[in-house]
Amino acid sequence: NGVQNLSISDPPKIKSKNIDVLGEYKKVKHKNAANFVVIGHVDAGKSTLMGRLLFDLEAIDQRTMDRYKKEAENIGKGSFAFAWVLDQGSEERERGVTIDIAMNKFDTDKTSFTILDAPGHQDFVPNMIAGASQADFAVLVIDASPGNFESGLRGQTKEHALLAKSIGVQRLIVAVNKMDMVNWSQDRFEDIKTQMSSFLKATRFNLESTAFIPCSGLQGDNILQPVTNPAASWYKSGQTLVQALDSYEPTAHNLDRPLRMTVGDVFRGGVQNSLSISGRIEAGSLQVGDQILVQPSSEKATIRALDLDNDDGDEIREWAVAGQNVILHLNDIDPIHLRSGDVVCAPGKDQIQNTTDFAAQILSFAHLTPMNVDIHRGRLHVPGRISQLVGILDKKTADVIRKKPKIVKPEEVVRVAIELERGVPIEAGGRIVLRSQGETVGAGIVE
Ligand code: GDP
Repeated sequence: NGVQNLSISDPPKIKSKNIDVLGEYKKVKHKNAANFVVIGHVDAGKSTLMGRLLFDLEAIDQRTMDRYKKEAENIGKGSFAFAWVLDQGSEERERGVTIDIAMNKFDTDKTSFTILDAPGHQDFVPNMIAGASQADFAVLVIDASPGNFESGLRGQTKEHALLAKSIGVQRLIVAVNKMDMVNWSQDRFEDIKTQMSSFLKATRFNLESTAFIPCSGLQGDNILQPVTNPAASWYKSGQTLVQALDSYEPTAHNLDRPLRMTVGDVFRGGVQNSLSISGRIEAGSLQVGDQILVQPSSEKATIRALDLDNDDGDEIREWAVAGQNVILHLNDIDPIHLRSGDVVCAPGKDQIQNTTDFAAQILSFAHLTPMNVDIHRGRLHVPGRISQLVGILDKKTADVIRKKPKIVKPEEVVRVAIELERGVPIEAGGRIVLRSQGETVGAGIVE
């Protein structure tokens, strides 16, 4: 009997206005969100470059900068001040090594950027993997100074690029850094560009979408401000690093695809204390009144209101599209069905399915055999098993070079079959990380 189900506190039913979201999206000025990871050989200047970027874009104030400078001078490492902007612990400051960069955000007119991670040390590759598994693109920092580009090539420059590619990072911005050390030599820049291009091409990166930017993080040239050094006049009309970052269109190809959004946070306190979720829309679009499906719980909810989460504060909107960070206020769902790491989609034929069995292409960091592993997809993780090593693949062509190995060594690309203890929303193209006993043992892409 319907009467008993009608309670006074029932929120009003929300109806979709059936807005042509993609049409509206094209009409208005919008701000995208993009995540990137910073990679490259130790001492290439990654931290300095990112510190400079944050400082120039006023994501960090002069007073804080002065404090860092003073601290750096106190231990005789003045030039490290910019790098310190990004470092958290004092221990790593004293050692002068950047271990891990926490989340750092900055804004340009077009885009809200998040720097996910930047390891400065060989042992910290797994950190980069965790960051890169959510990255839209990578900034590869290269040290242009004499001898150092060459030792970087033998070191982590190629390794990091290959890693990024293995876990699905499609686009690179190559920052050819420390150009001040080679007096902005065009020959040096072109030579580095040629060598890197042939390597990147062999690694199946698309060179057309790869930008090469000569810069000096330490002197702040070609980061936000174009370089003024007369020796760099050959680059007069070239892009700055910020322009290259800003030319990234994270959402263009994702807009017409079915809705996918990974839940970041679940909280109360929205409209009339409603249940709300925040996250970034990875594909598709949504609008107020839409019904959504949450996986793995397979529960439905209605979007009652939504805010765009951006630097202008929360902006109330009727709709949002891929690439935007949103807060959705929901009706008709109990909080027990919502968790950080869940995936939101539209119910119907294109909804994401919970799966327990799938194949993946994995780059190994440890010896792998058929073994128990925890599978991480963003913040979602579930116990599972590598049930079979299907074959070892050629790193550059992805062809099978050895079928059914008994064991896989570190740094091999392998196709594995995975079984999970319970069904979770994972689909082809998704990036996953495999961990065992607290170690990252592999990372790659679902096939
Ligand atoms: P990371 O290990 O890649 O994060 O490198 P850091 O940012 O810690 O920089 C390593 C060293 O290179 C430090 O001494 C920096 O001051 C120096 N450095 C960084 N960028 C530049 C640059 O553009 N020009 C010059 N001359 N030195 C730089």
